[in-house]
This record gives sequence, structure tokens and C-alpha cells, in this order.
Amino acid sequence: MPATDTFGRPLRDLRISVTDRCNFRCVYCMPKEVFGRDYQFLARRELLTFEEIERLARVFAGHGVEKIRLTGGEPLVRRDLPVLVRLLAETAGVNDLSLTTNGVLLDRLAQPLVEAGLRRLNVSLDSLSHVRFAEITRRDALDRVLAGLEEAERYPELRPIKVNCVAMRGFTEVEVPALAELARRKPYVVRFIEFMPLDADESWRGDDVLSGAEIRALIEKCWPLEEIPAKASSTARRFRFADGAGEIGFINPVSEPFCSSCDRIRLTADGQLRTCLFSRKEWDLKTPLRNGASDEELERLLRFAVAHKELKHKINEPGFVRASRSMSQIGG
Ligand code: SAM
Repeated sequence: MPATDTFGRPLRDLRISVTDRCNFRCVYCMPKEVFGRDYQFLARRELLTFEEIERLARVFAGHGVEKIRLTGGEPLVRRDLPVLVRLLAETAGVNDLSLTTNGVLLDRLAQPLVEAGLRRLNVSLDSLSHVRFAEITRRDALDRVLAGLEEAERYPELRPIKVNCVAMRGFTEVEVPALAELARRKPYVVRFIEFMPLDADESWRGDDVLSGAEIRALIEKCWPLEEIPAKASSTARRFRFADGAGEIGFINPVSEPFCSSCDRIRLTADGQLRTCLFSRKEWDLKTPLRNGASDEELERLLRFAVAHKELKHKINEPGFVRASRSMSQIGG
């Protein structure tokens, strides 16, 4: 029986953050670096081990989880990640294992990840211009990300490859034609995600959100789109180009919230369960795990946490209070 919350939404999808560290400093996510004062990352001992993650994944799979996505921080900076991928790929009940990455280490890791059982990949990419890529990520690494994508393309097991772009007003508009063209030219589904108030610098303002509808209108100036019906639990609205060349997606959590069909929970790198990206409360699983809790105790904790899942995020409501951590610390 899947764990279900008080609003009747079943649990199906688990996002696991394997580290809060990242080799990028994207403006919409990570804090700006200040010379001599580095961001405080979790200590190694705070991170769940692969065995601890596998155990929780197995317990969760017994209570509805079918899909697992590995994320971070940047998941590829966690040493030996393919070892974890293999453990999770072999977890009974998990039939969809995917990874979200900035792509910069993919040129080296795509092959071992596929060999370990990875079958789906999301790569974040906000600009195809070197200068603007560096502006947004605070790193000069566009060529390595494109090389990583090329490497991923060599493995037909990894399909579809999704390319995620955070849409920010005043930045993304000029990127739209080139990114749409990428979706037409390559086997990538390019998806635009509305900017959410999860940036570490806390500079998000409602006006910074460039909505999916606005981007769609920009694309349709060049190429008409047709909507593809999506599953009810899907976060993305999917569109194909009317001439049949590729697919585009829009993830519109701010302008069209999809909380009513949310089937996701998140496990942070330090073993805290979050039932919403915007949660102010976390459920500590690491302490019981390390204190010898039985599977039954962990199951009880999971079901209790899921039962208390938030109805919805309140980004658009007066008095909205930001989440207790920023995106890279939660795991997007
Ligand atoms: N480092 C990996 C990556 O770049 O994909 C995985 C972690 S990253 C936090 C996961 C996703 O969250 C990325 O697609 C990123 O663009 C997105 N993201 C981060 N901050 C966001 C924000 N404030 N609003 C919307 N999406 C955000």
C-alpha cells in the first residue's frame, strides 16, 4: 500500500540529494562567493552513506516509491556515485532511476553511470552563450557541459535526455530561440522551469519569474507548438513542434502550481525527509537510522511524515515564508 497524505495523494517519487556541494554557483541557487568566506557545506560524517541511502530507498519502495531521482548540490561530485546507482537500480519496486546534473563531469561519468543502470538524465543548461553561461553559473564551463551532453548522447539507454533551463525575466528571453532550436536539432527535450524563491542569496522577487506561457509565446513566433497530453502527476506541460521536430516542456510551479497531484518527497544529503520543496519542517531519519531503528520504525516515520505533507506551496499568497533551506541544500 503506498503511503498517502491526508489529501489523498499517494507517494511515488523520491528525490535523493547525495551532496550539498556543487562545482557551479548558479545565481538562482547558490550563494555568491565572498573571498575568504566560503559557504558552509555539510561535513562528510553528516552525509548519509550509500548503504544508508539504499536502506531508506528499500524501505520507501515498500511504501509506494517507484521513481528515484538523484540530485544535489551536484551529484556527480560525490565520489563513486555509480556504486550508489547500481545499488538503487537493483532495488525491488524502483522502476525509474534518473539523475539531475549540471553536466560538467558527464564526459567522464556517463559511461560508468549507464553501466551501473542509470536510464534517464536531466542536464541543467541556461544559456548557449559562453559569456552568459558564465554570468549565470559563475563558472566558465559551457564547452564541458556541451561535451558532457554529447557523451550522454552516445548511450541510447539514456533517453530522453532532458535539458532544464531556469527561466528568469531579463535573462532568459534572448536564450529562448537558441534553446528551442537545440530541442529541434538534438534528441533533447528542452524544459523551462519557472524561477522559484529557493535561491541562497534570497534575491527572488515575483517579477523575476518568466512564466512558461510567456516563453511559449516567444517560441511560437518562430515555430508553432502542439500540446502533448501528460500524466496527471507530471510536473511538466509537454509540447511538440507542429512540424514534428522535437519536444519542449514547461514546468510552471509559480504560475500553474501542480501541488494537487504532487507525489514527491525529498531526502536531503544529511538524511532529513522533506515533504515539500517549501517545507519549513523536516523529519530526521538519519538519527534513528544511526541509532539502530528497525525497518518497521523507519516505515512508521515515513508514513507519519507523508501523512503530514503540506497541501501546497504558498508562493503566490501574502505572507509567504521561504523554505528553511535553499535549493542546493534541499536537492532540486
Ligand atoms: N547540480 C544539479 C543540476 O544543476 O541540475 C542538480 C541540483 S540543481 C539544485 C536541480 C535543479 O534545480 C536544476 O535544474 C536547477 O536549475 C534547478 N534550480 C535551482 N534553483 C532553482 C530556483 N531557484 N528555481 C527554479 N529552479 C531551480
